[in-house]
Amino acid sequence: MSAPSAPLLSVRDLHVDFKVRGDGWLLPAKRTLKAVNGVSFDLYPGETLGIVGESGCGKSTLARALLNLIPATSGQIVWMGRDMAAAGAADWQQVRRSVQMVFQDPLASLNPRMNVSQIVGEPLRTHQPQLSGVEVLARVKAMLVRVGLSEAHLYRYPHEFSGGQCQRIGIARALVLQPRLIVCDEPVSALDVSIQAQIINLLKDLQQEMQLALVFIAHDLAVVKHVSQRVLVMYLGRTMELAGKQALYADPKHPYTRALLSAVPLADPRRERAKMIQMLSGDLPSPIAPPSGCVFRTRCPQAFDRCAVEVPPLKAVGPQSQAACWLY
Ligand code: SF4
Repeated sequence: MSAPSAPLLSVRDLHVDFKVRGDGWLLPAKRTLKAVNGVSFDLYPGETLGIVGESGCGKSTLARALLNLIPATSGQIVWMGRDMAAAGAADWQQVRRSVQMVFQDPLASLNPRMNVSQIVGEPLRTHQPQLSGVEVLARVKAMLVRVGLSEAHLYRYPHEFSGGQCQRIGIARALVLQPRLIVCDEPVSALDVSIQAQIINLLKDLQQEMQLALVFIAHDLAVVKHVSQRVLVMYLGRTMELAGKQALYADPKHPYTRALLSAVPLADPRRERAKMIQMLSGDLPSPIAPPSGCVFRTRCPQAFDRCAVEVPPLKAVGPQSQAACWLY
């Protein structure tokens, strides 16, 4: 996809730190957990950026920081040309009309005491109080049909639906304000594989129909492949690789991306047998005490002396690829 000139969202050197209490004896009283550590990217109208990494790599924190649900410690978020650094609560409220979120656990993200009509209508009542009850109901009904539900579901409660249907309700709630961007935080990881495909196809159809941009977060490169034009690979809060989809899947540059990709099964059994497996050894290090230098070095099969000393910067390693690795 050729990118238009003005990004919808620009993120520069974003940091999100959390203060963590020690035990005051062996561990220092206060330590800093760098959940997001210097992430930068642009997102263009109608584009999907996939964000991938293991649990604990900071991708969900990044998603919440984009909407100021968790405040950023430093860095810049520019939304439709407007720097949000000095934005107050009212400004963020305005932005949230255009940026909505779909959450991982569809049932937990819906209020069990509200019926579908109330859940999907709530953003309209909050952000467009001038609408009459009849107008809200008409918009809710239309939205339900667009996500594959029907008027018959209007007055039912979340516990009466399957996981896939609950996620459709969550998507309807996110889309009812006709936003420009949806941040999807692992929207299919709690669903069965067959339902995952339905929800991904629904998101893709709605994206085309409504010219939506998506930030699509997953821990699985196979899931992200079907929706994204570009993919950002995160590890311990840092960007390891940022690349166009074709470049990333055909020629991954970063050793971490290669390891993640080698875990994705191939449909062709001959290619699957011939594939070089690069399993990730060891566990993800604690984000409170990340390794020095390159944060991936304790699990990297190609690590060498420099990797323990200096942090590799993210730099261009191909026409569509950037990677943070001293091999380049
Ligand atoms: S910088 Fe070194 S440790 Fe890090 S990914 Fe590259 S080779 Fe591996």
